[in-house]
Amino acid sequence: MRAQVLICPTITLRAYGHLCHTPRRLYRYGSSSQFLNLNLSRFSRRLLTSFFHMEQFQSGAGSSGKKSMVENLKRYGVISSKRVAQVMEHLDRGLFVPAGSSAYVDTPVPIGYNATISAPHMHATCLQLLEDKLQPGMRALDVGSGTGYLTGCFALMVGAEGRVVGVDHIPELVDMSIKNIEKSVAASLLTKGSLSLHVGDGRKGWQEFAPYDAIHVGAAASEIPQPLLDQLKPGGRMVIPLGTYFQELKVIDKSEDGSIKAHTETSVRYVPLTSREEQLGGF
Ligand code: SAH
Repeated sequence: MRAQVLICPTITLRAYGHLCHTPRRLYRYGSSSQFLNLNLSRFSRRLLTSFFHMEQFQSGAGSSGKKSMVENLKRYGVISSKRVAQVMEHLDRGLFVPAGSSAYVDTPVPIGYNATISAPHMHATCLQLLEDKLQPGMRALDVGSGTGYLTGCFALMVGAEGRVVGVDHIPELVDMSIKNIEKSVAASLLTKGSLSLHVGDGRKGWQEFAPYDAIHVGAAASEIPQPLLDQLKPGGRMVIPLGTYFQELKVIDKSEDGSIKAHTETSVRYVPLTSREEQLGGF
């Protein structure tokens, strides 16, 4: 597994080097890869198969941009679910990235405060893994909600009868995520109260609407925070990147009797799940 982690960033960098946008400050966290929030193994293997013929994940603006971003994610096998394709086409990533950034290119984009919006293929991977727990009427928690893009996707999938909570510890990002959602097709879910975004330490989860069918953590933890395990519903699923330098995307399933099963989905590179002070240090 480790060999894969060491080899794949190089492959990924060759394939995507010219598309990379990473804030310098993030190197504080010891990244040797210029990529953050990237799935470094399965996706890279798929890229290799068609490397020389591959078209950039770069598309025009607006609906055609969204559409070809999703088409590419389908073509490379990242999206296989119709619901995931629909929600990513429906919610415009262009409303969630800072002005002037490439919204539909498959790369993370800096959003300030030493954070990034994850690359589209990471959003798609997490939506795929959580899809069964994002059925209409279900409850989901998005820890490290950042721009609110994935939180908005969750809200559209569970609908007005469901309940989605986003938590981020940077107040400015939470304000920004609310403004982003207000401009989007998920706006009515915010007004009707089935979607809310809060400032808080996501390591504590969000008790008010627990237990959750789905929990997504958008930053890498050194270990799974106990409150998140406690707030996961029996039968529920959590997707969480674990690790510091070497990170793996873990899928945690809680069975009906409360026992926990975990498996590793892939190697990844995320910003850390940490304290606000640590994240903002020197910002
Ligand atoms: N998933 C989001 C953001 C990913 S970046 C998106 O794609 O837009 C990771 C986010 O986790 C950042 O916004 C950062 O502020 C947040 N974060 C890190 N540690 C946190 C903590 N302890 N509590 C809440 N949010 C945290």
